[in-house]
Amino acid sequence: MAFPAHADFLIIGAGIHGLSTAWRLAERLRDAGQEVEGRVVVLDKSGIAAGASGIACGVVRNNYFQPAMRKLMAHSVDVWESDPKGLSYQPVGYMQISSESMRDDVGQIYAQQQAIGYESVFIEGAEASDAYMKGIFADWQAQHITSVLHEKRGGYSNQTKTMYALADKVEKLGVRILTGVTVTGFTAENGSSAISAVETDKGAITCEKVVIGAGPWARDFWDMLDLPRQISIKQPDGTMVEGVDMWRFWQLEEGVLQLPPETGNADDGSMPPVIHVDTDAPLMSTVDGSLITEDMWGIYYKPDWHFGGIQGGASPYKVETPVNEVQIDPYGPSSPEFVASDEFAHMWVSALAHCQKRYEGTMHKYHREASGGIGCFTADSFPVFDRFCENVHVIADSNHGWKMIGVGHLTADEALGESQELLEPFRFDRFEKGELHPVSNSPYPWS
Ligand SMILES: Cc1cc2nc3c(=O)[nH]c(=O)nc-3n(C[C@H](O)[C@H](O)[C@H](O)COP(=O)(O)OP(=O)(O)OC[C@H]3O[C@@H](n4cnc5c(N)ncnc54)[C@H](O)[C@@H]3O)c2cc1C
Repeated sequence: MAFPAHADFLIIGAGIHGLSTAWRLAERLRDAGQEVEGRVVVLDKSGIAAGASGIACGVVRNNYFQPAMRKLMAHSVDVWESDPKGLSYQPVGYMQISSESMRDDVGQIYAQQQAIGYESVFIEGAEASDAYMKGIFADWQAQHITSVLHEKRGGYSNQTKTMYALADKVEKLGVRILTGVTVTGFTAENGSSAISAVETDKGAITCEKVVIGAGPWARDFWDMLDLPRQISIKQPDGTMVEGVDMWRFWQLEEGVLQLPPETGNADDGSMPPVIHVDTDAPLMSTVDGSLITEDMWGIYYKPDWHFGGIQGGASPYKVETPVNEVQIDPYGPSSPEFVASDEFAHMWVSALAHCQKRYEGTMHKYHREASGGIGCFTADSFPVFDRFCENVHVIADSNHGWKMIGVGHLTADEALGESQELLEPFRFDRFEKGELHPVSNSPYPWS
């Protein structure tokens, strides 16, 4: 097939957001009796799922302290639930299990979940929390836990399987996915800021609308669009902080314990909810009993048949390299610089053993292959979903995004001219207006 000279809707990035946008656009065009073929094109410099979407742990949850994030996640969970089999989605639920410093925040999340009709249960108190967890796993033994939020919806999905299913879905609808095409810049209309063509290493493609879902490469597209590397942020007291970097990178460390996935099942034999524990209990090594940390720590894990073991991660760490010097490529496990460390493996397996007796002494089962990758976060660590240069829709999810499969749908609706209320709290001008999202006591930059 010839390289296209034009696309009405040009989507950059064959990750979760790019393909979700293509899915919705194609369905809407089809339902309106319009042609899809030749009109919706997805470009990717590498391939389908070559970015963060191909290495995500796949957890889908609602547990966010920020009301706007919760509403958006509830919408995305609806999208996951619209085709669980087709999207390789495991609706096993999700548990936020916390020590005292997070009890009030999580209690508020629970109350607000009830208000939006998102089904969850909240258990408070050390004894009640322990009993609730032992009702699922008799070997539960995590310390200092005083609350459990059990979300009955959510769960996880099997990243690459989901991505290939999505690609199949959109191609059947008439979307063309072009891989091995690198976007190098944009051309604006004479006398207007609107983008009339996307420049690539294979030639220019003229277009009406552009959607960018570039995951960790958001920084580079921001530069291509001539958007500011540094921004001003209005503080709650009305003062402005100037010169804040728009982007920063964090390294996400994840790994797999190579036990039969069934090892992680609940006592009744079912697949358990995704477990997320944040606690200030001292963490001791499962290798030699030494103290790993007395500070707050957090992990998440699930039995995963796609990864072939118990898969999960811990709090990320900030990449200290100046933001414009961070090498994103080669990405993920191929990076010589950004892969999960031995310290992570020791901490994570010890934390699993802290939570459940069945994982004691299993360090030798840790899978030593490189895993993890970097995420590109915004100045306040929450997404920017906005339109720039009149016709360019940017999905910069600040690494929250696998679970946010619905954002592509909402962006497609915006590209068709329908402004979406759920995306309003994520506009770029929130920084200068000081309309920031509330911050929780979680140790993660994404809760
Ligand atoms: C280790 C890890 C675990 C994670 N776990 C979870 C999780 O459990 N749950 C969750 O909700 N989120 C998770 N995330 C975050 C989530 O993976 C990302 O937020 C999401 O996948 C981003 O999707 P995307 O479509 O924006 O970008 P990506 O999936 O990164 O896709 C961007 C695409 O753009 C392409 N591209 C880049 N530059 C160019 C160019 N110049 N020209 C053409 N194409 C280009 C890339 O090749 C890539 O395929 C995790 C992230 C990491 C790193």
